[in-house]
Amino acid sequence: MRGSEKQAGSKNSDRVPVIRFVNLTIFPELFFPFWEHGIIRKAIDQKTISVSAVNIRDFAKDRHQTTDDRPYGGGCGMVMKPEPLAAAIRYAQNESPDSKTILLTPQGQVFNQKIALKFGSEKGLILVCGRYEGVDERICSDFIDHEISVGDYVLTGGELGAMIIIDAITRLIPGSLGGADSAERDSFSDDLLEHAHYTRPRTFEGESVPEVLLSGNHQDIEKWRLETALIRTFLKRKDLLKDRILTKQESYILKKWCFEIEEIIRFQSLRGPAALSGNQ
Ligand code: SAM
Repeated sequence: MRGSEKQAGSKNSDRVPVIRFVNLTIFPELFFPFWEHGIIRKAIDQKTISVSAVNIRDFAKDRHQTTDDRPYGGGCGMVMKPEPLAAAIRYAQNESPDSKTILLTPQGQVFNQKIALKFGSEKGLILVCGRYEGVDERICSDFIDHEISVGDYVLTGGELGAMIIIDAITRLIPGSLGGADSAERDSFSDDLLEHAHYTRPRTFEGESVPEVLLSGNHQDIEKWRLETALIRTFLKRKDLLKDRILTKQESYILKKWCFEIEEIIRFQSLRGPAALSGNQ
């Protein structure tokens, strides 16, 4: 493969990678530290993914390997020229014919866990990283399967977005993480944020770990985890709960809180209007 491909050593060398990520970029070296560490490195070594960075400049025909030009109609900034980009995309599609081609753009569908899961079932992704003011519109309309944004803000290039996508998908591949079910429990997997976590020491700066986590009673621990997951989702991301079909146990927990909150309000109102209006 043209560009810089990172694949496994000798271990499992007959296994085909589960997902192949090809990044098209004018800064391939930005990816190198990303795939040298942690879970991404492990997934590459285990051949569950392969990653490569292809330099779009290699497809420019002129002496200076130009990849940008001034915008038609005037205005500030430069635009990514269509010819080198089209040639790079064709090359990558030819090398990975089963892959989907994704353009990183702030104007795309906002990336989330559900999209990560969906992309995780693809054979490969060709991630097109824009720079300057973006790419010539004819690339967007003729060469791209999906446009993806990593959030409602504007970055200087698509490379960080491509790494976010690769990272989120890789940790969903079975075996990528240590615990078999750790990705399943992650925030957003089920329209819930994940429960609270504690580790040693048992008391830190005067604050203790909740007793239930030390009890060894797995049923109680699971119940506590579900309750903290629900309360965190309610307090931090109420919008997620609207999409979730609540289980009987979850409805019960939410109703119990409502009841307890009502009790507090009722108690306050018995103390008179001054208590309710606040005593700031
Ligand atoms: N002028 C463009 C606009 O306003 O829509 C922004 C171009 S941005 C400076 C340059 C490149 O960074 C884009 O082509 C895209 O590849 C990448 N980029 C910037 N923000 C992004 C985001 N939120 N999600 C994904 N890619 C982004």
